[in-house]
Amino acid sequence: MQDIILKNGRIIDPTQDLDDQTDLLIRDGRIEHIGILNDGIPEGATVIDIDGKWCVPGLVDMHVHLREPGREDKETIQTGTMAAVAGGFTAVACMPNTNPVNDSAAVTRFIMEKARSAPAVVYPIAAVTRGLEGIQLTEMVELHEAGAVAFSDDGHCIMNADNLRRALDYVKIFGGLIIDHCEDPVISKGGVMREGFICTTLGFPPIPSLAEELMVARDIRIAEYTGSAIHIAHVSSRESVRLIRDAKNRGIRVSAEVTPHHLFLTDEAVKTFDTNTKMNPPLGTEEDREILEEAVISGVIDCIATDHAPHTDTEKQVEYSLAPNGIIGLETALPLVMTRLVHTRKMNPSQMIRSMSTNPSRLLGIEGGSLLKGAPAHITVIDPDRLWMVDPMRFYSKSQNTPFGGLSLRGSCNLTLVHGKIAFQSSN
Ligand SMILES: [Zn+2]
Repeated sequence: MQDIILKNGRIIDPTQDLDDQTDLLIRDGRIEHIGILNDGIPEGATVIDIDGKWCVPGLVDMHVHLREPGREDKETIQTGTMAAVAGGFTAVACMPNTNPVNDSAAVTRFIMEKARSAPAVVYPIAAVTRGLEGIQLTEMVELHEAGAVAFSDDGHCIMNADNLRRALDYVKIFGGLIIDHCEDPVISKGGVMREGFICTTLGFPPIPSLAEELMVARDIRIAEYTGSAIHIAHVSSRESVRLIRDAKNRGIRVSAEVTPHHLFLTDEAVKTFDTNTKMNPPLGTEEDREILEEAVISGVIDCIATDHAPHTDTEKQVEYSLAPNGIIGLETALPLVMTRLVHTRKMNPSQMIRSMSTNPSRLLGIEGGSLLKGAPAHITVIDPDRLWMVDPMRFYSKSQNTPFGGLSLRGSCNLTLVHGKIAFQSSN
């Protein structure tokens, strides 16, 4: 394998407090050296000049739906990971709500086998309960041994509190992570959008934020009781943030993620009746949005995760209340965060890397998230000033369901290296 030198980039790595314009040498797929090369350029090395660009630990998305096996018309492991590397993500963790559900070692192995030729690294998340039915726990140790990095019934909340308690106990054996989709389905039943003024105006059945908050409170208490780590998926309400902040202050092992759409959109967007504003949890109010933004900047919310949820046009082009929940996010997350948080100076580049690479890697217990010498060369090169218009027709994803089409954004992925190999290179 040829040496690669990324020359003259702004190298940013929060794990070593690094923010310097210098060179980075990759050898045998690993980071060999950061700094000026005193002995000159090694013979036969490929030199890529990244002057004016940022060189950061590869982004990691801990919440995506790759749809394979079962719904290859929406996305496949290949197309989803192509979208990932184009968006600057070197690794993704995929949710188990496939068909069949990833609730057995055989399905976990199938995904890992398929992912071997994929451009990004794929980490399967296995189900907590069989068939996501909420009744019988899966064989968690066996799933862990097969390669599952975490457990979730995403799409459903783990409603049976005793199941959650026992699952949290089991994962302690190997230091695993439970990720809960917090929603009391009795409270949210029949709802279409977040309860509030706009919901009333539009006449839609409401989803009270209480549906999420109740389960966040319960999960925190069970995590405290068992002493295990719990991760709250796609936090959407300000009260959930308060619960998480308080729990962290008390030393409870809770972590959380927020999606770009909950950071950058509100229930105002539903007025367009665009079904790409329909998601679960629903878009919150401006007050929620501001608190979520503050929380991800301060680190109360650990990660930004996309909840990339591909759906076909035919599924989304129906009456609002009938449309499936969710939007894609892998190819828009970084440009949105760059434009709305980094260029506005609300968030510095290190904080962005923390929430989009270092923290998700740490929570999942996977490699990556830093540029330390000897680490696998999972690297994202960002062009911070590239002006770019979101054109869903040009996405690598198989689906186009995004509410961000037509937006002009500043900053995007220029180059993605996975295990030291070029997985994506922007054409301009
Ligand atoms: Zn979910």
